[in-house]
Amino acid sequence: MSGHLAGTDAGLPVLVLNAGSSSLKYQLLVPETSHVQASGIVERIGEPGSDVPDHRAAITVMSERLREEGIDVDALKPRAVGHRVVHGGSTFSDPVVIDDDVVARIRELVPLAPLHNPGAVTGIEAARARFDVPHVAVFDTAFFATLPAEAATYAIPRDLARQHRIRRYGFHGTSHHFVSRAAAELVARPVEELNQVVLHLGNGCSASAIRGGRAVETSMGMTPLEGLVMGTRSGDVDPGLHAFLHRELGMSLVEIDRLLNSESGLRGLAGVNDFRAIEERIEQGDADAQQAFDVFVHRLRHYVGAYMAQLGRLDVLSFTAGIGQHSARVRAAVVGGLEHFGLSIDPQRNATRSSDARVISPEGSPVTVAVVPTNEELSIARQAAALCRETEPA
Ligand code: ADP
Repeated sequence: MSGHLAGTDAGLPVLVLNAGSSSLKYQLLVPETSHVQASGIVERIGEPGSDVPDHRAAITVMSERLREEGIDVDALKPRAVGHRVVHGGSTFSDPVVIDDDVVARIRELVPLAPLHNPGAVTGIEAARARFDVPHVAVFDTAFFATLPAEAATYAIPRDLARQHRIRRYGFHGTSHHFVSRAAAELVARPVEELNQVVLHLGNGCSASAIRGGRAVETSMGMTPLEGLVMGTRSGDVDPGLHAFLHRELGMSLVEIDRLLNSESGLRGLAGVNDFRAIEERIEQGDADAQQAFDVFVHRLRHYVGAYMAQLGRLDVLSFTAGIGQHSARVRAAVVGGLEHFGLSIDPQRNATRSSDARVISPEGSPVTVAVVPTNEELSIARQAAALCRETEPA
């Protein structure tokens, strides 16, 4: 059958788009084989002096670049376009086929994600105008729709929270979902049987606790600012800090938001947000870099311990994303000294470099510690393809 299934589009690629306010990341890939035919990013959309005025123009630039690589994306007709959307609020707990009503509802969520959802909406509109194929939205929050109320609720006045949709939503859900399934495959056990903790450590960082495949806790909250120390985000601070900065320094809310989102985290502590630079400077004996590393790890251990308590039993701890997949030093520091809780790392396994999912705990450990590469684009492509199959007329 040479990869072609009669009556279906198997073998055809899905176009995955991740539209930000000023950028458009794209990947053309075949969900069944994971084969990436092309990928890239169009930047500086709508910025002064840029020759890409809007997202429609960005789609045209993308199509031109694909043509230069020998792919006529209009003639090829991807099977579907999968859109990464950051915030699905309480409205979307699963991927959806996009129609005008869905676009309107994503737009209604802009107050919850003012930095992210507007870009997604303009990206979706531009792509729908260009590609007459099913478009599917995959939400970063969806995997966390299962958080129990006690994990999702802030202890603030109930009516205020309800009226303004203030609760913990969680983000990076596509990655936590993908990694928890890949980790179950790695240990060759059904995901339904496993209690897992996933640490997604990229520029943004988040932890999740997953029981039987369903998320029960996560470190990001109403916004992606809560939780772990990140490249430029503070993660958890005393909420009283906002009032202090305003009262004592006269900082505006916009300034405080920028301080905590863009000038804090590793950058705030060590002056750089790139983790490789932090590690190089630790090697050179830089005290600020060492402290940034220590604070980063301390917060991670705090969450790992908390999630073990929430789960009651832990089977698999997975590290993923740029830092999680590549920094043996972080992994060793997070797990070090936790033998009493069943957690340990084999130094040789931890030091081995590989792009494959792998176990780094010693043989026979009570808790399997693993490195599991994430692949959000593949996950979005698979979810988009699956949804198109489901909704295909019989
Ligand atoms: P994003 O969240 O933007 O997708 P990534 O998952 O690519 O980011 O993670 C980026 C982070 O991973 C950066 O802090 C980068 O320095 C770090 N990183 C990438 N490669 C390495 C490496 N070999 N060693 C340590 N850190 C790394």
